[in-house]
Amino acid sequence: MGEFELIRRFFATASCARESEGVALGIGDDCALLQLADGEQLAVSTDTLVAGVHFPETCDPFLLGQRALAVAASDLAAMGADPLAFTLALTLPDADEAWLAAFARGLERMARGCRLTLAGGDTTRGPLCLTLTVFGRLPAGQALTRSGARPGDLLCVGGSLGDGGGALALVLGQRQAPPRVADYLLERYWAPQPQFALGRWLRGRATAALDISDGLLADVGHLARASGVAVQVERERLPLAPALLELHGREAAFGHALSGGDDYRLAFALPETYRDELQRLWPEAAVIGRVSAGSGVRLLDAAGDELPLPATGYQHF
Ligand code: ADP
Ligand code: MG
Repeated sequence: MGEFELIRRFFATASCARESEGVALGIGDDCALLQLADGEQLAVSTDTLVAGVHFPETCDPFLLGQRALAVAASDLAAMGADPLAFTLALTLPDADEAWLAAFARGLERMARGCRLTLAGGDTTRGPLCLTLTVFGRLPAGQALTRSGARPGDLLCVGGSLGDGGGALALVLGQRQAPPRVADYLLERYWAPQPQFALGRWLRGRATAALDISDGLLADVGHLARASGVAVQVERERLPLAPALLELHGREAAFGHALSGGDDYRLAFALPETYRDELQRLWPEAAVIGRVSAGSGVRLLDAAGDELPLPATGYQHF
């Protein structure tokens, strides 16, 4: 199977590669053509996943296909962008048909769930590595950046925290758990759902937002720095899933929620006036603290006393 046969069989003919609204020209030419409406901006983000660094070399290709796209698409949701398209640069050690078929199915499932069209890519031979670039559309000037949080805003997250980090021991086969625990955590790790609907609702309401990829404390630290404010996180308010608590217990669950990473929930600063609406429309979301004047991140216990900060998120260098 040559390079072009591979592209055709597994990607160009996939149903997620069909031209769609906003993708005027898809796979097959030198470039794809994306069409924006008047007054729209294009949101663009790239993520690379390297075998042995971001996922085990031998991991299930279906799950990898889902996760690779979910992780990339989460950045669009975090800006409040509506999904448009993505490209896939695939480096493979060999053209293993069974691997490719399963990978393409996983990619397809997530692409359909996220309404993202596969518009192009690149295919090369080498150590297994995936680079996905995602494109989204936004009404000009309405992107949710990291830099607008104001003292007095609520600090909120879009759903349970710690699931990604808490799932890792199961992913690596170091721990086992009953199906009600394992199914939930493994689904959250392998198929985190980018919070597009929440991001869209936050447009024009939230003052700042990002997605939690490095761990809550590290990521809200980025938001605080970019906004020139301080944030307080109240530990008892962190939403923890029953499965995470059952597998790890409360103390370790807090650890995963604070610094585990890989959650792909949105974290955002929201003016107090939207508190009731948030809780009514997004019951999974939680207010976990406050924005105030100053700098840095403080962690508080139930009594309001300051707790020491655990080590922060993963860094490659
Ligand atoms: P070029 O040499 O002009 O850069 P390629 O031969 O690399 O183009 O790719 C041919 C077409 O197939 C292009 O439209 C490209 O976007 C698409 N393509 C290549 N690899 C992939 C892939 N892994 N997934 C989706 N589309 C791909
Ligand atoms: Mg070309």
